Amino acid sequence: MADFTAQDRIYLPDRVFTALEDRMREGTGVWVRGERIQALVAVGDLPLDAPVERWPGTTITPGLIDAHVHLDNPGDGSTLAAMEEADEVLAAAGARHARTALEAGITTVRDCGSRGDTVFSIRRAIDLGWASGSAIVAAGSPLTVPRGHGWPMGGEVAGLEGVRAGVRAQRAKGADFIKVINSGGGTPGTYAWQAAFPIEELRAIVEEAHGLNMRVTVHCLCTEALQRTLAAGADQIEHGHFLLEGDRIEVDGPTADAIAAAGVFVTPTMVVASSLLERLGDDGDPAERDRWLRMLDGWLAGARRLREAGVRLVAGTDAGWRWVRFDDLPSEISLLRQVGLSAAASLRAATSESATAMGLDDVGAIAPGRRADLVAFAGDPVADPTALRRPVRVLQGGRAVALPVR
Ligand SMILES: [Zn+2]
Repeated sequence: MADFTAQDRIYLPDRVFTALEDRMREGTGVWVRGERIQALVAVGDLPLDAPVERWPGTTITPGLIDAHVHLDNPGDGSTLAAMEEADEVLAAAGARHARTALEAGITTVRDCGSRGDTVFSIRRAIDLGWASGSAIVAAGSPLTVPRGHGWPMGGEVAGLEGVRAGVRAQRAKGADFIKVINSGGGTPGTYAWQAAFPIEELRAIVEEAHGLNMRVTVHCLCTEALQRTLAAGADQIEHGHFLLEGDRIEVDGPTADAIAAAGVFVTPTMVVASSLLERLGDDGDPAERDRWLRMLDGWLAGARRLREAGVRLVAGTDAGWRWVRFDDLPSEISLLRQVGLSAAASLRAATSESATAMGLDDVGAIAPGRRADLVAFAGDPVADPTALRRPVRVLQGGRAVALPVR
């Protein structure tokens, strides 16, 4: 074995989940040099002078990735009211949310829409070391039709030239990818069962973004929006629900098959409904409760059908929106198991699959050369998903994150 340097550490847990295979490795250490993973090593091969740190009773996984958050949203049910606050207020709150996610073992978040420059300000403060939080992959303002869902975030665009200019504007601000809102949603005056952009404008967005080497992911709550998004050649779909007028849900099999055939990833974000139901509790407004129970059922049915069709699902929570907390990725992972992913596949959906969907080859797996974003959970998160709520060590680029005493 090579000589060790002062920058080397070998972390020895009970188990290692690399996220590049389904099995757990035992008797294996993760060798980190500085901010990178050097190698996986068998315990039996380690020399006596190896710089070993033992983490008994734990499983090391790659740092988790939440593929859908809104850092500048509060996650306390006041999303719409929050849009009345100044950008500075939203950015300050967002920095705290990025830290909450990091302490939960979520070392990367993909921000799927923020107002104005807030997400770029949060990212800048973290880059400068003035704030601490997850690495941020950012869209900036989501592109939406005039007065479409999410318009208060500042991304209203219209017309072929207008939508192309919208892509370039987000790019100029520092966006890594483009988020498009292609149906209504929770914004008053918009309807989730109505598609938003005409196909020609969607195509122009995708073409402009791809020309700039940016991926495009599209908010779709209804079948028509899904079909237009596929026709436009987008890379990923957020939510992927099959709503019809009047909150009815009818899963469209051929559309699910078409999404699979196109190789488009889907982020089902089912925890939006489950966390809202949790919040409503048994004493909540019965009509509202019934509505969200039906919604959750329909979302689960849709995600199950997508999985059966062979669609690659990734874990994203929509944290910040409605009642979704920034540390609640484990709930979405559990919901992914409910719709048929194996325990290992559900963890890959929150690590390696998510990284693949975003085009990140630096994170999401434990392999030589990748960034040493690692989490040690107490227990075995494949055998027992509640272990995902017990991160005991978090490394970000090889550096230990101070965790709150739980
Ligand atoms: Zn969202």
